Amino acid sequence: MLVAEDLSAVGGISLSAAVPVLTAMDYQVAALPTSLLSTHTSGYGTPAIVDLSAWLPQVFKHWTTAQLDFQQALIGYVGSVALCQLLTDYLTKQSLELLVVDPVLGDLGRLYDGFDAAYVVAMRQLIKPADVILPNVTEACLLTGTPYQSQPELAPLLQQLQQQLKSGAQAIITDVTQDDQIGCAWLANDQVQFSGQQRLPGHYNGTGDTLAAVLAGLLGRGYSLERSIRLANQWLNQAVAATLAQHRASERQGIALSGILREILALDQG
Ligand code: ATP
Ligand code: MG
Repeated sequence: MLVAEDLSAVGGISLSAAVPVLTAMDYQVAALPTSLLSTHTSGYGTPAIVDLSAWLPQVFKHWTTAQLDFQQALIGYVGSVALCQLLTDYLTKQSLELLVVDPVLGDLGRLYDGFDAAYVVAMRQLIKPADVILPNVTEACLLTGTPYQSQPELAPLLQQLQQQLKSGAQAIITDVTQDDQIGCAWLANDQVQFSGQQRLPGHYNGTGDTLAAVLAGLLGRGYSLERSIRLANQWLNQAVAATLAQHRASERQGIALSGILREILALDQG
């Protein structure tokens, strides 16, 4: 599986979280950083960043010469219009059995720093070849041009997302609140489906990235969409609970992953 997203040396999110999760599921992972950061961007001050836009075309050229064919791909944080276009071109030429795109654009109704309307347009291209996309509510609103609401009407939002995807592809909104639960919403036979778990107190870094890695891994292993989402939400809830139980002095390090790894290994044996 090709996994492309930022590599933050410190903070335990994105690529650092995806690689162990997918390795535990027995994937051979090609870990492609889209940029290098000294830390992630939440809680450590301004990170030292290396932009890898000049390197990526060389990587793709080499991989093409080496005839490296990926069966699955997971795309997370990309970071620039140029990188989105490079990835879109490369992925469109691959014959993948599964392409999962987490269209990372923003949260809580706002674009992340450094992103603008042109970046949203580039992301609309990157989701076109995807089999599964995992926007949060903010990203679903941005992709569809819907004014942001924290608890939007899900049916029209999901329908509009589906219209932007190829036939048979699936949009899953990842941070949906229903009563005291947080979870995922998607459409099945035009009906909104929801699978969630109790929302635990606090805010955590890396939950979205880890959810994406778990879902991509389970779907690639042939688990149904519903079972994959249900397991992913259960495991994320346990990981957040384990993080809470550690009574950490600061919130900036990503969630505790070892429980998820144990669940994955137990699943493979059973
Ligand atoms: P990100 O903000 O990292 O881009 P996201 O907005 O797509 O990701 P999150 O809000 O991080 O999604 O939530 C992803 C999943 O993590 C949820 O579906 C849920 O399973 C779990 N999760 C996140 N926060 C909590 C919480 N406070 N309590 C329990 N589970 C949580
Ligand atoms: Mg979020």
